[in-house]
Amino acid sequence: MNGIDLAALQSALEAKCKELHSRMLDREDIFIEAAADEFDRMQQRLTREVAISKLDRGSNLLKDVKAALNRIADGSFGTCLSCEEDIAEKRLRAVPWAAYCVACQEQLDRKRAQNASNRDNDADDLAA
Ligand SMILES: [Zn+2]
Repeated sequence: MNGIDLAALQSALEAKCKELHSRMLDREDIFIEAAADEFDRMQQRLTREVAISKLDRGSNLLKDVKAALNRIADGSFGTCLSCEEDIAEKRLRAVPWAAYCVACQEQLDRKRAQNASNRDNDADDLAA
């Protein structure tokens, strides 16, 4: 991994880590008291689900960021976890917690998008 300023990436990752931590503390939407009214309860449930899915995204990212810091510590940083090729420096500067090269990430994203659209269909079924 020549030419990559690991120290700079590490401090970017640490800053991101702190930012995510403080955002995670802001989770009061999840702990709302059950309203007596059926409709209010439904609204609350939706608000809660949105808050949880936001939190999920945040905690997934936090996991990625922490994993990247671990990879800096153990020297494996910058290597794609899937194909074990070097991750492009440009990509690491843009996304310091990237665990995969662009090609592997695109594959993963396609899979995730498929799963997400399956979930959306489920939600539609429930609403019907
Ligand atoms: Zn790869």
